[in-house]
This record gives sequence, C-alpha cells and structure tokens, in this order.
Amino acid sequence: MEGKVNFEDLNVEYGESINNPGSLFLYSDEENEFRLKMRQWAKKNILPVDAEIERIGNVDLDKAFDICVDIYKKMAKDGLLSLAFPTSIGGGGKGFVYRVISGEELAAINSAVVVTYGASANLFCAPIIHFGTEEQKKKYLIPVGIKGEKLGAIAITEPTAGSDAVGGMRTTAIKKGDKYIINGEKRYITNGSKADYLLLYALTNPDAPRKHQGISAFIFPTDTPGFKRVRDYELCGRKGSINSHLKFNNCEVSEENLVGGPDMENKGISIMMSGLDGERCFTCSQYLGIARSAFEVAFKYANKRRQFGQFLREFEGISFRISNMYAKLEAGRLMMLRAARMLDAGLKATKEVAAAKFMCADYQMEICLDAVQICGGVGYTKDFPVERFFRDAKIGQISAGTTDILRFLCQRELYRELKE
Ligand SMILES: Cc1cc2nc3c(=O)[nH]c(=O)nc-3n(C[C@H](O)[C@H](O)[C@H](O)COP(=O)(O)OP(=O)(O)OC[C@H]3O[C@@H](n4cnc5c(N)ncnc54)[C@H](O)[C@@H]3O)c2cc1C
Repeated sequence: MEGKVNFEDLNVEYGESINNPGSLFLYSDEENEFRLKMRQWAKKNILPVDAEIERIGNVDLDKAFDICVDIYKKMAKDGLLSLAFPTSIGGGGKGFVYRVISGEELAAINSAVVVTYGASANLFCAPIIHFGTEEQKKKYLIPVGIKGEKLGAIAITEPTAGSDAVGGMRTTAIKKGDKYIINGEKRYITNGSKADYLLLYALTNPDAPRKHQGISAFIFPTDTPGFKRVRDYELCGRKGSINSHLKFNNCEVSEENLVGGPDMENKGISIMMSGLDGERCFTCSQYLGIARSAFEVAFKYANKRRQFGQFLREFEGISFRISNMYAKLEAGRLMMLRAARMLDAGLKATKEVAAAKFMCADYQMEICLDAVQICGGVGYTKDFPVERFFRDAKIGQISAGTTDILRFLCQRELYRELKE
C-alpha cells in the first residue's frame, strides 16, 4: 500500500546512518574503533532486552531495574565500567572522551541503562577517584566501579534543595566521637533505594557563616540503621530507572567514610563542584545518543512515507527540519567533545561544560519533538520509538542542573573571566 510504513521497514540501526566522515574526523582512529566496539556491545547486550525494559518499566519497576543491573554487571565483566578509571586501581586509564563515546552508544539504545551505569560508575565513583583516601579507593571503587558487584548513587538534591542545592541543604552530619550522625532527606536520587552506597552531601557545620563552608561528602552504606526508602518515583520517561526519595534518621557512619579523610571536613563543596563538570559533560552524551536515534527514525521515515504523491522529505518544510536536526546533533557533538577534551587535558571547563549541557539538552528536546512531528500520528503511538525518545529527552533540561541554571552558570564564568 503506497505510503504505509511500518517501523520494521525503516531498517533502523541506531546510529549507522550518521556514521559520516565529518563525525569520524573529530575523533582519533582509536576512539572511532572504540565507538564501533561499544556500539556492537550495546546492540548485542542491550537491544535484545530494550523493549522489555521499557514495557515492564511501567508495571514492575523493580524487575525492569534488575535487567539494567544485569547489564551493569556485564559491562563490568567486559571492562567497560572502569574504562576511565586510573590504571593504578585496575581501570582502563581512558578519559572523558571515552566516557562520552560510551554514554552516547548506550543511550542511543536505552536511557535507563545509561543512567543506572552513569550514577554508579561515574557519579558515585568519580569523587572517590579524585578525592578519596587510598583505603576508600580500594574499599569502594573495586566492588562498585571495577567488579560491578555493588551499586552506587549520588545524593545531593533535597525537598528544599533543588537548583539551590547548597543554600537549601538541610541534611546534617554531626560529629560525635569517631562517628557522624546523619539526619535529613534526599529526593530524586537515581539508583537511590537500590544502591549499596550513596555519595552523600550533608552539612557538617550548619552554623558556618556561608553555607558552602559547612558541607562534607560521605560514602554512606545503605544498610545503615535509620536509613529508609520513602518511595521510588514513577517517571515520565526513562522507564526502568529507579529514582528515590530517601530518609536518614540518626544514621551513624564512621569518620572513615568522610571522603578524603579528616582534612576534607567542610570542604565538600570542592568535591561537588569538580564532580559536577564531569557529570554534566557525561550527560551531554546521553542527550546526543537519544537525539541521534530519534533523528535516525524520522530521517528514514521521511524517506519512505509518501503523501500527496511524494516522499515527505520532498516537502520543503520537512527537509528543513531534517537539516536542522542534523545540524543540531553535530553542533551539540562539537560542544560536548570540546568540553570532554578540556577535562581530559586537566583544564577548567565549567563554562564550556555548562554551555554544552544546555545546548545539548535543548537540541535533544527539539530533535525529539521534530522526530514525533515528522512521523505524524504513528510518531505519537508506541508502534514507533520516537514518543519514548521524546519522553526520555525531557529530563535532560531538568536534572544535573536545569538549562536555566546552566545558562546562569555560563554567564557567571564569562563575567569572572572578564574581571580577571
Ligand atoms: C529523573 C531525575 C533524576 C535525578 N537524579 C538525581 C541524582 O541522582 N542525584 C541528585 O542529587 N539529584 C538528582 N535529581 C535532581 C535534579 O538534579 C533536580 O531536579 C534539579 O537540580 C532541579 O531541582 P528541582 O527539581 O528542585 O527544581 P527547582 O530548583 O525547584 O526549579 C524549578 C524551576 O525553576 C527554575 N529555577 C530555579 N532557580 C532558578 C534561577 N535562579 N533562575 C532561573 N530559573 C530558576 C528551574 O530552572 C526550574 O525550571 C534528579 C531529578 C530527576 C527528575
């Protein structure tokens, strides 16, 4: 029947069609090889369970999450979790560029998988890699980030502390002998109720003249008495990802769990800030991966679907959309890659990361919206995956710093540079 196009007719390979010389040119041969390996790995290990994660993520979140954790363990077995960890602790010694390549390839297939991995192997582990004591590195990085036997999460956000994560923080960790007593709550924590450990930020000096001078980072074992899951949220997208509201009621943790040891008490803000640039750069890769897949579906659909006796792509309005989607993808890639290369070179990249994150997040949303529009009615049904990409995309403009906050951050850095 002329014009009727099923999803199977599109031959979507998630990313193959934009494997163009222009993009390949941006990466070294070794990086391109790694991308191909990562893509094959994701297709082999995630694609077969992708639809299942999405389907049961709506009805049995725990079960869907278990599939994500199984993939996490497979990543560990194949040396992919610790790719960017230092070789001194058994990692691959690669940097942010490798991290963003793997993030893009995983997200191009499934968002829940990439955030489960990212929250644990990146967000939980990175602060310990950079600031942890030797003992903390051995004790936590190996089971979480190398062997994948344990799961981590990062816990900053609270009911009163969202964008104003520092100013609104209420969770306290008060020193008593050789312990800290933790009270408070955290919400929207990815992996939260399932994690074995949280990288938890709390006020060790609630009376500090400036709030940021009284914050510390802890490794919090979730089997600590007094720790409670309030609930796991039902999300708009990212089906299969666990995001939790958590409570801490007189939870005792050893002083040995203070990240970086006694000298780092009240200095948690530097840990939080250094971790955020890396986290935000990694999130860009998730946005690109999702947008890339949405683009690919719409691109191929417009080449097959006929109306008014011609292919959709032959209508000027559609052809302009396709070009804009492609340009946004590649512009986002350039910004992300520049930020990742700066981080790998040990340069301060707060401004570049912020700009890359808000642009990639906005581009992602726009591309996914356009993909639904190009696919028309079928784009809004579950016969095609674009409605899901569009739901998965929205969180990019909210988590790890909203696009508004990142715009604020970017101009603040610009004006700081002007003063200098
Ligand atoms: C699915 C999901 C996963 C998450 N994972 C984690 C996690 O693993 N760990 C963690 O700690 N947190 C996590 N978060 C929390 C996330 O980082 C926060 O939701 C985010 O920082 C925004 O905070 P808020 O939701 O309280 O919004 P608010 O801060 O209340 O903001 C509401 C709106 O006001 C705007 N706004 C606020 N302040 C300003 C300003 N100064 N100028 C202009 N506009 C402003 C915001 O941009 C936003 O549009 C997650 C959230 C979600 C939904």
